[in-house]
Amino acid sequence: MPLSWYACAHCGFWQRHFDPADCPVCSDVRNDLPEDGWRFLPEAEIAATHGGTWRQVAEDLWAFTTTPALGLAGTGWLIVRPGGNIAFEAAPYYSDAMLAQIEALGGIRFLAASHCHGYGALFQLQRTFSPERVAIHKDDLRLTKAFRVTAPFDDVLALAPGCTLHHVGGHYEGQACLHDEPGRRLFCGDMFKVDQDEGGRATAISSHKAFHKDIPLTHGELRRYRAVIAPLAFDAVLTPFEFAPEIGRPVALAVLDEALTRPPGVKRVLL
Ligand SMILES: [Zn+2]
Ligand SMILES: [Zn+2]
Repeated sequence: MPLSWYACAHCGFWQRHFDPADCPVCSDVRNDLPEDGWRFLPEAEIAATHGGTWRQVAEDLWAFTTTPALGLAGTGWLIVRPGGNIAFEAAPYYSDAMLAQIEALGGIRFLAASHCHGYGALFQLQRTFSPERVAIHKDDLRLTKAFRVTAPFDDVLALAPGCTLHHVGGHYEGQACLHDEPGRRLFCGDMFKVDQDEGGRATAISSHKAFHKDIPLTHGELRRYRAVIAPLAFDAVLTPFEFAPEIGRPVALAVLDEALTRPPGVKRVLL
């Protein structure tokens, strides 16, 4: 088979390969394995069967979603800003119409993701928009074979003026959050899991190493999260899945502080 892009039918993780033998995301302890074995779908098949939608969630912020849902069904965020747009996390796949909408909004100058659960079809965004920087933390480089990282980083990277990546680890070795200072937002990756009701209102928040398996974070990992986000001013968090305008810094710190008062264990804190 020719070298091309394939999506894992179970989690949506993309690999550039000729015959993927397994999916590193599903094989990892944080995901479940598919019940019925591996299936890898070539890009042409995904393109023929998937479309997508977008919505404006704030004056300078857009959310892109793939339909029908593919894999982990994440959201691709686009921050529209005068110095060049930032795409953070990516939708599982972008139709031509979605790519045309991003182009109409000014394209992408900076591209990054928190960790592999947010990569989506990041390769498509790089292929289409040739961003100046593609930033992923150095500890997750092994998972980026579908695209090319041009800006690996250590603890902190000023991705663009006012927008800074901070390595937090914990849930994933190379997990990083993006602090959007002008927007007072924290793109927090899977540092937090937010439960929402049907109207999109946050009902509970938790923090964990592996959500499906209820594996908690250690105290050291929680303390690292806390040390990184305590100095950052934000009024909302955005995971690869949810926009939670109710969760600002005081709530986020309170969740971590509560978890540090007891032995490690996953607990959903009701809001
Ligand atoms: Zn997978
Ligand atoms: Zn994750």
